[in-house]
Amino acid sequence: MKSLIDKLERENTLSKEEWITLLESKIDTEYLFERARKVQSENYGNDVYIRGLIEISNYCKNDCLYCGIRCSNKNVKRYRLTKEEILSCCKNGYELGFRTFVLQGGEDKFYTDDLMCDIIKSIKKNHPDCAITLSIGEKTKETYQKYKNAGADRYLLRHETADKKHYQSLHPEKMSFENRQKCLFDLKEVGFQVGCGFMVGSPYQTSETLAKDMLFIKKLNPHMVGIGPFISQKDSPFKDMKNGSADKTLIFVALLRLMLPNALLPATTALGTLLEDGREKGILAGANVVMPNLSPKFAKENYTLYDNKLSTGCEEASHLLELKKRIEKIGYKIVISRGDYKERRK
Ligand code: SAH
Repeated sequence: MKSLIDKLERENTLSKEEWITLLESKIDTEYLFERARKVQSENYGNDVYIRGLIEISNYCKNDCLYCGIRCSNKNVKRYRLTKEEILSCCKNGYELGFRTFVLQGGEDKFYTDDLMCDIIKSIKKNHPDCAITLSIGEKTKETYQKYKNAGADRYLLRHETADKKHYQSLHPEKMSFENRQKCLFDLKEVGFQVGCGFMVGSPYQTSETLAKDMLFIKKLNPHMVGIGPFISQKDSPFKDMKNGSADKTLIFVALLRLMLPNALLPATTALGTLLEDGREKGILAGANVVMPNLSPKFAKENYTLYDNKLSTGCEEASHLLELKKRIEKIGYKIVISRGDYKERRK
C-alpha cells in the first residue's frame, strides 16, 4: 500500500477507512521504514535522546487487567522510593549524562501533591538544566497545574485505546475512558509537553480500534507517543493472552513518525524485551528516544508490568557506554541534552 504511505507522508493524516485499508494490507516495511527515517532525520538529524527512567513506586490503586502491578496482584513485593532515593537516582543519572528524568509509577496516594511538588522542586534545584517528565497516572487538572508550577516539564499518560468498548475490556468498570482522555487534554492546557500511547497487540485490539487510535492521536497532537507490544504477565487476568508483535510495533513507530513528523518517539522497553535489538530496530523505524532505567535494583526487580521485563538499566556507566556504541553502530548518536520537542521546520 505504497500510495497510502506516500499520502500519509505528504498530508500527515488518513481517514479512518484509509487507516483500516492500510493496516489490513501487506505493508512493504523496507519502504515504510526508509520514509520514516527520512522524516526523522529532517527533524532531528541523527540525534537520539536519552531519558533516565526512575520507577518510583509499584503501589497502585488501579486494577488494569493487563498490568502486573495492579492492586489485586498479591504476588508483587510492593516498594516505593523516598524523596532521597529519587534524588540520588537523579544525581547518578546526571553524572552519566542524563538531562531528562522520567518519574513513573503506579497511582500511589503516598505521593501527595505536596510531596510530589517537593520532589519536583528539589530535582530542579539540584539540576536546573534538566527536564522532568512525570508518568504517574490520572489526576485532577488542579494537581497537574501544581506539578507544572513546581517545575515539571512533560507528562506521559498513555490513552491505552481510543475505542470505548475496547477500553472497558482492558480495565475494570470503575475506570473511565472519558476521564483518561480528559486528563490528556487537561495536561495540554496546563502547558505540559504531553505523551499518549497504546500497546500494540493488546487483547481484543482490531484494525478498527487501531485506526481510532491513530485518529485520536492526530486530534490530540501530542509531543510524544509511547507504544510497545503487549506482553502478558503471569499473575494478571490476561496471563494466557498472546503477546503483541514486535514487528507490528515497529510498523506503528514508523506510521507515527509519518503522521507526527516532529514527535518524540521512544523505542520502548517492551520492544527491547521482545527483541534483543529492539531499541536499534525502533530507531531504524523512526524512533528518536530511548529510556534506560536508572531505578535501584530492588525497584527494577519489582516494577513488573509484564513478564521478563528488560532490566539491564543504565545505572552504571558501562551500560550507558554499551548503549552508546550500539546506537553509533547504526549511524545515530546519543546526545547530552534535555531533548525537547522541536516545532516543525517546514
Ligand atoms: N500508572 C501510570 C504508569 C503506567 S505503566 C499510568 O497510568 O500512566 C506505563 C505503561 O505500561 C502503561 O500505560 C501501559 O501501556 C504499559 N503496560 C502495562 N502493562 C503492560 C503489559 N502487560 N505489556 C505491555 N505494556 C504494559
